[in-house]
Amino acid sequence: MSIISDSLKRIKPSPTIAVTQKARELRAAGKDVIGLGAGEPDFDTPDNIKSAAINAIKKGDTKYTAVDGTPALKKAIVTKFKRENKLNYSVDQITVGTGGKQVLYNTFMATLNKGDEVIIPAPFWVSYPDMVLLAGGKPKIVKCTEQEGFKLTAKKLKKAISKKTKWVIINSPSNPTGAGYSKKEIQDLARVLIKEKKIHILSDDIYEHVRYDNFNFFTIAQISKLKDRTLTMNGVSKSYAMTGWRIGYAAGPKDIIKAIGKIQSQSTSNPSSISQAAAVEALNGKQGFIKTRANAFKARRDFVVKSLNSIKGINCLTPNGAFYVFPSCKGLLNKKTRLKTDSNFVQKLLEKENVAVVQGSAFGLDGYFRISYATSMQNLKKAMTRIKSFCESITR
Ligand code: PLP
Repeated sequence: MSIISDSLKRIKPSPTIAVTQKARELRAAGKDVIGLGAGEPDFDTPDNIKSAAINAIKKGDTKYTAVDGTPALKKAIVTKFKRENKLNYSVDQITVGTGGKQVLYNTFMATLNKGDEVIIPAPFWVSYPDMVLLAGGKPKIVKCTEQEGFKLTAKKLKKAISKKTKWVIINSPSNPTGAGYSKKEIQDLARVLIKEKKIHILSDDIYEHVRYDNFNFFTIAQISKLKDRTLTMNGVSKSYAMTGWRIGYAAGPKDIIKAIGKIQSQSTSNPSSISQAAAVEALNGKQGFIKTRANAFKARRDFVVKSLNSIKGINCLTPNGAFYVFPSCKGLLNKKTRLKTDSNFVQKLLEKENVAVVQGSAFGLDGYFRISYATSMQNLKKAMTRIKSFCESITR
């Protein structure tokens, strides 16, 4: 009999982390690998945030804190929601965890019973289905096509709802496609959900600040009839280049917030006291660099989209947020190239040209691949040249 639990057998390790690891290993073996798999900004954490952490250490803020966040951080989060999203929450509607990832994991552990369904629009962030499975729930994957801008439509949402649906996940701007939902698109989904009073909505807003072309960010809890059934998750990882600090948070119904805290109290306890102090400064401090960095990302996005679309067989939409593009490689999967799947494409690209990207099937949609352009323009230029030369070589 295996020592490993049945629930663990239901899941697989994160494929995006696996690609990053593979690129790291090849690099260590002396290969000139360009990794376009990582889901983190290449920028450094701003200095004012680093100083806040150093001050916290010097002041002795190095002990356990309240399990689900310090009063100072919860207050900063309440202020953030008011300032940026026009949402009013009290501090007991806020929870802080070790990254948005822990907040999501705790949410599913705290709310799912065996067989409960969670509607997950695909392409999805790789961790959603596995977290749901681990918690005993059932991911209900709804494929959203390129023609639909990779976004869930009201019609598809309606069709996916069953008596067992407990949650619907909305992730805007999205990982892996970068697609952001307009206010109208959110309102269309809301019209369906307002009638479905038992369903809760999980809005993953982690890429809120990485957006372009005057895209107006709108989160579903701003629709007052749904606020009581929505958990709005966010964090400092992507907005403030703080992935390693591990601070994520959520706002929502008090019973869910309390339940998340209960799990945390018996697992990890509080997120790092020092990281929490840094997150207070991130949320309360100067915000100017967010725009500067978004502009830098935009230049890279424009370059990458243009380069990819100049390659025969590749088609790439222009996303309005996050730092990913999700091009189609379907035009290159045929007898001539002898590539059948996106996984074949990605593997050969790594072997032949030392460029690491992630296959679309890992995100629930075949025939695509994800590029993270959170790396230097110099790397991107090299990578695009290599991808072009790879695609030309297989069609020759
Ligand atoms: N949600 C999405 C869509 C993500 O892409 C990520 C990280 O890659 C997270 C949540 C979790 O981020 P963190 O745990 O660093 O806060």
